[in-house]
Amino acid sequence: MDLRSSESDDAFRAALAAWLDATLPALAPPPPREAWDERRTWDTDWQRRLFDAGYAGLHWPKEYGGGGASPTEQLIFFEETTRARAPYVGVNFVGTLHAGPTLIEEGTPEQKAAHLPRILRGEEVWCQGFSEPGAGSDLAALRTKAVRDGDDYVLDGQKIWCSFGHIADVGEFLVRTDPEAPKHRGISWLILPMDLPGIEIRPIRTVLGSSEFCEVFLNEVRVPVANRVGPENDGWRVTNVTLKYERGTAFVSELVDAIRLCADVAPLVHDPATRRELGRCAVELDGLWALTKRNISQSARGTIGPGAMVIKLAYTEARQRFGELCLRILERDALHVEDNEPVEERLRTLALTIAAGSSQIQRNIISERVLGLPREAR
Ligand SMILES: Cc1cc2nc3c(=O)[nH]c(=O)nc-3n(C[C@H](O)[C@H](O)[C@H](O)COP(=O)(O)OP(=O)(O)OC[C@H]3O[C@@H](n4cnc5c(N)ncnc54)[C@H](O)[C@@H]3O)c2cc1C
Repeated sequence: MDLRSSESDDAFRAALAAWLDATLPALAPPPPREAWDERRTWDTDWQRRLFDAGYAGLHWPKEYGGGGASPTEQLIFFEETTRARAPYVGVNFVGTLHAGPTLIEEGTPEQKAAHLPRILRGEEVWCQGFSEPGAGSDLAALRTKAVRDGDDYVLDGQKIWCSFGHIADVGEFLVRTDPEAPKHRGISWLILPMDLPGIEIRPIRTVLGSSEFCEVFLNEVRVPVANRVGPENDGWRVTNVTLKYERGTAFVSELVDAIRLCADVAPLVHDPATRRELGRCAVELDGLWALTKRNISQSARGTIGPGAMVIKLAYTEARQRFGELCLRILERDALHVEDNEPVEERLRTLALTIAAGSSQIQRNIISERVLGLPREAR
């Protein structure tokens, strides 16, 4: 790993910082949490600005309209955008961070041409329809049926926890195309336009009072076979491509943000025991940032080391410990801070150890695939 910055890295950092300094003051304030249409417009407007400035899909290859950035440039991007408090990826999360990269690896030329430019320009918002009421951790148990009828599949079933489903244009959906095959071998990965007849979307209210994910009911929905990504019944392999991105790089800007928050909190803490705990959080987060650099450097050389598998587990648990500490530091004042931000933040981070695979499942994966321990009994 060599992450020393070169002259061109320094130039990249300076140009990005200058662009952020010029662009951010002109942004309107973010809309309220539940104003979903406005949030979509705000987030996709930011994506368009990134695109126009050449910063959209920085980690995507150049041939697909991305930045083809080096590992150090990607890290500089995370550092500078966090330093400047630039907007988060927001509703562009699924498209830019894992559906787009999956299409790059597995899509047909037509699928790439139809979707990749629109994702980068902020013209197409994606959601993810993987989980079902009986298939979360055991995702391969999914039962949504897709029956071939001429050039279409006809879909029947139910999805749940579909983030941004109510404002998305397109979804990455997993369906069962062979009910007779062993469960991992009868799945296909489909591109689902969310406005097709037969799709009913019902937002779910969370503990925060927000509705950022939905139930999706599919009732005789006809989807062209041409929307399938990868061979029929080979969707489990394609899913692992998606999860590699979702669990690998998708948390990086959150991590940089947590490091900043830790530094923000430090001056408020005077009691030595609490300062020690905060120091521990800071060291943990710093260690994870170093591990992230190593992961990005390794993936640029085409290898995925064990670090990529542990980052999601380690970061989400560290973030929860940090959130807990913030509440203890602020005590009753946490409730008086504007919008109860620390309380909201703590509630939001509850979901981090569940989303994209729970901590228990991550531990199973690490023990089996990294440590080589015996497989869990099924
Ligand atoms: C904020 C958020 C956003 C999400 N967004 C999406 C989305 O956009 N699209 C989508 O498809 N899904 C989404 N999900 C769903 C998420 O992927 C699932 O919640 C997750 O995989 C867990 O599945 P489950 O909720 O069915 O829990 P279950 O699988 O029922 O698990 C319940 C508990 O049992 C434990 N457990 C289960 N099996 C094992 C085992 N073999 N060994 C040890 N422990 C086990 C789990 O760790 C957990 O603690 C989202 C979830 C959250 C919280």
